[in-house]
Order: sequence, then C-alpha cells, then structure tokens
Amino acid sequence: MNPLGRLAPTPSGLLHIGNARSFLLAWLWARGNVLLRIEDIDKPRCKPEYTRAAIDDLVWLSLWETGARSASDGMVIQSERTGIYRRHLHLLHAKGLAYPCTCTRKDIEEASSAPHGDDGPVYPGTCRGKWRDAAHAKAATGREPAWRFLWQGPPVTFVDALAGDVSIDPSSLGDFVLWRRDDLPAYQLAVALDDALQGITQVLRGRDLLHSTARQIALQRALGLPSPSQWAHVPFVQDATGRRMAKRQGDLSIKALREGGCDPRQLTGFLAYSAGLMDMPRMASPAELLGEFDIRKIHRHDFNLTEEHWKSIDG
Ligand code: GLU
Ligand code: ZN
Repeated sequence: MNPLGRLAPTPSGLLHIGNARSFLLAWLWARGNVLLRIEDIDKPRCKPEYTRAAIDDLVWLSLWETGARSASDGMVIQSERTGIYRRHLHLLHAKGLAYPCTCTRKDIEEASSAPHGDDGPVYPGTCRGKWRDAAHAKAATGREPAWRFLWQGPPVTFVDALAGDVSIDPSSLGDFVLWRRDDLPAYQLAVALDDALQGITQVLRGRDLLHSTARQIALQRALGLPSPSQWAHVPFVQDATGRRMAKRQGDLSIKALREGGCDPRQLTGFLAYSAGLMDMPRMASPAELLGEFDIRKIHRHDFNLTEEHWKSIDG
C-alpha cells in the first residue's frame, strides 16, 4: 500500500526555511501522496492571513496544488473540526480516561519535585480522581478546568526512521492536556484524531515532537483508532548561531523569498542538500528530487544556516 503522509502547518506566523524543509522531506517520503492540514486550533495565535501565506508557500514550493482548498481536495482545517474533537473528549471521559484539572502552571511547578520533561515539569497527577466533573471542579475552585488524559499502562513503543526503536513510559511525560481551560482543543487530541480519522500512515515532522508520538499513539489506542505506522522525526534548520528558527523571524520567511523573486527550485534543491540527500546543492524541484530521496540519508544533526548559504538561495 502507498503511504499517506501529511503537511500540517500551524498558521501562527510565516513559514520559515526549517518548516519548508520538513514539508519537503514529508512530501518526498510519501512520494507526493500527502494531505494538507491547517493546524489553527490555537485561535489566539493563528491568523487567516498566515493560513493563506502557508498555502501560497506550499504551492510555490510545488508541494501542494493551486486551488486545492477543500476537504475533498485533501485539505482539512482544524478550527472547523472542534465538534469532532469535543465528541472524542466526551468518549474518553465516559471511559474514565479524561479528567478535569484546575491546576495553574505555578501549582504544577511547585508540586513537581519530579524531573522536568521536554515540555516543562511533568504533571504529577494532582487532580486524578479529585473532581466528579467540570462543574464540580469549577464550583470548588472558581477556575475553569482544563481536561487531561489519564495515561497509565506499559511504555509506548514505536520505530522512528532516524532514532530507531523508541520506548516511552507514560510516567516520564505525565498526564497531558486534551482540552484547554480557554475551551479550545489541545494539539495532542486534535492531531491524534486527525491522523487516525484521515487514515494517515506516515508522519515526518520536527524532532521536537518525538515524545508527542507516544502521547498520540496512546490516545489512538484508548479510542480504538488506527495509528500511523511510519514515523520520522527530523533535525532542525537553525540560524548561524545554532538557534532554532522561529516563525516570527519574518526576514527568513518563505513568503519573503517567494516575493523577492527567488527560484523555488533553488530553495528546494538547497534544502535537500542541507538534509543530506545530496553532496552539493543544485537546483531541483520536489519531483526532481524523488530519485535522490532515501530516508536513511537524512542527517541526524541540525543544520546551521549561514549568511553564505542564505545568499546562495536568495541570489
Ligand atoms: N503543526 C505542527 C507544526 O507546525 C506540526 C504538528 C505535526 O506534524 O504533528 O509544528
Ligand atoms: Zn490538576
């Protein structure tokens, strides 16, 4: 069976070179068989203008086709799917696997002498079994509760194409948020559901999300849904000083390159080179890179983008 991958931009800013590289690699690994998912559930941070820019960027990079803007074309918009996420939160609650949590960030920091995970302090389970329901939690504390996944059981294992065999114990990450106190679905719930419901079989994304894969597989299992079978968590492109790129650095955005008249093949060829797919940069479209692609060639280390690199892309 052909793998089905996905491109999942978060429109909280303009996409940068690092985002473009992950999308290019995801596209190549799936040999172009990808869906587009706009991950705009974080309403306070996402803007429609960034969604438009992300789509225009992907079209310009030849990773997505012009005019494909509806679900039937393979595009999904998370902010339109809140009802689906909420229904599954209720299902988890009915199974005793979701509970309200009224802890503030400060509460959690103070309560956890426990080791800090990659996403801050590990939640120590303070509210497990504490509240009958959200109304009870709110009446007792005056605070709108978040909802957390009650995560127990054996370690979650999966094979990552770069990291190899991965095994993650629930207690090392803790019960994570499914629904936010500002009444928005949380990233883990939305992504786990969409990957399962869209029949995604292959996920390639940044290395920062390696641990989230365990969370998402655990959620899919709890709901009796399928999980993707192929995973790859790829290194970052960083700036010349080795700092991770952020979406707010507008000057390094794809939009700026696109509007500045850069040839997209210049960029995709360079990105493929920077990831380890070829020895020297040369102009190449995604389709022209298919022959070069081998997941085993991808570097295990981050790439620092220097001023010289930048000039070679931007002309
Ligand atoms: N939307 C996330 C991002 O832009 C990616 C999430 C994922 O690939 O699961 O970083
Ligand atoms: Zn709590």
